[in-house]
Amino acid sequence: MPRITPETTIKQYQDFIREVYGKPNDRHFSLWDMLSNVERFTMRSLKGIRKNNQNKTRFNLLIALSWFMSTLNRLHIELDESVWKRFPYLCSYCASCPCSCMENGIDKRKEVPVDNSKRPVTLEDFQTMFGKIYPTENRTIEHAGVHLAEELGEFSEAILAYMGEHKDGLFEKVILESADVFSCIISVFNSMGINVAKELSDMFSNNCHTCKKSPCECSFGSIVKFKS
Ligand SMILES: [Zn+2]
Ligand SMILES: [Zn+2]
Repeated sequence: MPRITPETTIKQYQDFIREVYGKPNDRHFSLWDMLSNVERFTMRSLKGIRKNNQNKTRFNLLIALSWFMSTLNRLHIELDESVWKRFPYLCSYCASCPCSCMENGIDKRKEVPVDNSKRPVTLEDFQTMFGKIYPTENRTIEHAGVHLAEELGEFSEAILAYMGEHKDGLFEKVILESADVFSCIISVFNSMGINVAKELSDMFSNNCHTCKKSPCECSFGSIVKFKS
């Protein structure tokens, strides 16, 4: 029985999602269906921010994250790798930790050096890393939420461009944008003081969080109607 523990790595979580949802996703959902579910649950989580309902934000963002993982599995993108390449314990834009983009008015992306000795191991370690690069006291949760919406739009655009032309360079852009989306999802959780790995280990303690099967046997209809 596949499980996620609080010590899960990003890769183990991604493998779990593949094992539980890979088959039904391949049979029932196009790439666009999955992407629209990432967007749908992310937007619900943003509504939770507007309504000051932390539970709504937490729950919907965990589901959005899992649809995001399904999308990356379909595209054969290893999130662990793409995140570390983009955020090697440094802001991907100003190349410092904590990020100094605001104070220094950086208008051009800097070269980001990679020191592999600092690479986080578990998902929790990655969450801690993002908390150090982007301290929550430097921005509001509303700001983190708007940034997430913006990055999700860029991820969708990158996929659209790649699917149109099938060029390797355009796929690289999808990989980069996937890391940005992940960093923004984690930042919203950091703003709420929520440990993502712990939440996922509770939610997925027994296969699919809804039907409790592996592979998941939720029907297309129940996923479309899914309420929270
Ligand atoms: Zn920065
Ligand atoms: Zn299910």
